[in-house]
Amino acid sequence: MKLKIHQVGHPVLRQQAQALTPEDILSARIQELLVHMRETLYDAPGCGLAAPQIGESLRIAVIDDKPEYIQILSAEQQQARERVPVPFHVIINPTYTITEDRIAEFPEGCLSVAGLVGVVPRAIAIKVECLNEHAKPVTINARGWYARILQHEIEHLQGKLCIDRTKMDTLTTIENYQRYWKK
Ligand code: ZN
Repeated sequence: MKLKIHQVGHPVLRQQAQALTPEDILSARIQELLVHMRETLYDAPGCGLAAPQIGESLRIAVIDDKPEYIQILSAEQQQARERVPVPFHVIINPTYTITEDRIAEFPEGCLSVAGLVGVVPRAIAIKVECLNEHAKPVTINARGWYARILQHEIEHLQGKLCIDRTKMDTLTTIENYQRYWKK
């Protein structure tokens, strides 16, 4: 089932999302929600979706950075972004620490800020501790674009949006990004 993605200004996007217990995670309701979030992510399409975006104030996000999303970038852009495919997975109750000081600056968008992109500075490498959909602990060491996706999704669970970090003089519509800034 495709869920409605809420847009910036909806209060749920600014709430601190609630942590889940292992029992919550294994419940039919949450397992069903994960299926619907995956469908919604693919339908959008996007490479990450956090539960607050579909109106559930829960510390859950789904991620899938498919090869076909990456292929639209030039080889140089893929390399600069350190963007490689990431298979579908679920992160629950995630926390992260920065593992490398270097900051990368690239244009970033959000399904809840439809039609706009802007340059967002983010840590190049992070370590995430979370639970998976089976309520098992997982440690993720991520870098490049994957580290960016994880920071973006985890911040959704803290009531933050990428536009809080966007360099506002770089904000552009996607149409104008394609026309003037893609190179
Ligand atoms: Zn987002």
